[in-house]
Amino acid sequence: MSALERLAAEMKAVGEVRRDEPLSRHTTFGIGGPADLFVTVRDATALARAATAAREAGVDLFVLGSGSNILVADSGIRGAVLDNRSAAEHDQGDGRFRIESGVSFAAFARRMCRLGLDGLAWAAGIPGTLGGAVVYNAGAYGGCLADVLTRVRLLQPGGSDLWVDASDLGLVYRGSALTRRRLPGEAVLECELSLTPGDPAALTARVAEFDRRRLSAQPRGRNAGSMFKNPPGIPAWKLIETAGLRGARRGDAAISEKHCNFFVNEGAASAADVAALVEEAERRVRETSGVTLEREVAFVGAW
Ligand SMILES: Cc1cc2nc3c(=O)[nH]c(=O)nc-3n(C[C@H](O)[C@H](O)[C@H](O)COP(=O)(O)OP(=O)(O)OC[C@H]3O[C@@H](n4cnc5c(N)ncnc54)[C@H](O)[C@@H]3O)c2cc1C
Repeated sequence: MSALERLAAEMKAVGEVRRDEPLSRHTTFGIGGPADLFVTVRDATALARAATAAREAGVDLFVLGSGSNILVADSGIRGAVLDNRSAAEHDQGDGRFRIESGVSFAAFARRMCRLGLDGLAWAAGIPGTLGGAVVYNAGAYGGCLADVLTRVRLLQPGGSDLWVDASDLGLVYRGSALTRRRLPGEAVLECELSLTPGDPAALTARVAEFDRRRLSAQPRGRNAGSMFKNPPGIPAWKLIETAGLRGARRGDAAISEKHCNFFVNEGAASAADVAALVEEAERRVRETSGVTLEREVAFVGAW
């Protein structure tokens, strides 16, 4: 029996196990080849157990949130993909919440606004899980997770876990110590947020205003949000437009006519199509503006 087969058998005690699961079913791009082993876990304990089992078996591990900030290679991801559906929330009073990392960030943000808790109105349109939001310090409209995040429970390589203060996570614009691989933790298990009292009517009105702005500025359809980070002083979409790439295509992959920093799968685009378009944007922006764009979307798997 191979290490992967042994792990698959072991994982059955922890979550639902599938072999060769197409990741196109689990990414907002609708793109991505198979995961050797795909394990759905429904609480933080199962997430920790599954991650530790993979590590002990010497099998590569990838923690998947909602797949809203990744481009998965056409050949997929080798090893184990943990589909994080942990969803418990603990209201600790005084606006403090302890939340498992698989909770939908946008749904939580909207619920908090309706309850009259301030701090997350800007997040109501950001797809993904709290875990993904921690990793990238998700943000919009002048807010970011660092504003309300107090602590994070991280799984440690040996299988134990550790609460880490938000100030020690190195949270910056769309990045953290986790994106820079400066923390040994391989999974965000839980987060603690602190919100302040607010007026439910005013907060829901702010959410509606952000929804309106997002709808008018961003394309619908299959994408992963902004492809590139905005370089200091100039938005990435402007650089891509200046490079003459509004509406550019490669197969079924397109640079959105509506927002040039959104790359859209208009049908059956492959990861290779999107990657080719991304590389073209990087090259043309360098030639026309002298700027080296930095990717926000993570290219993951076996490229
Ligand atoms: C239409 C659209 C609009 C968007 N708008 C915004 C926006 O306004 N602002 C913004 O910041 N982002 C935006 N995004 C990007 C995306 O929603 C965020 O980056 C989100 O936080 C990603 O979360 P996820 O659960 O989907 O992560 P995934 O895409 O599943 O994973 C992303 C990375 O995080 C890691 N990860 C996920 N969960 C964990 C965990 N529990 N432990 C350890 N690592 C983990 C993964 O391994 C992977 O490396 C947008 C995306 C879309 C599709």
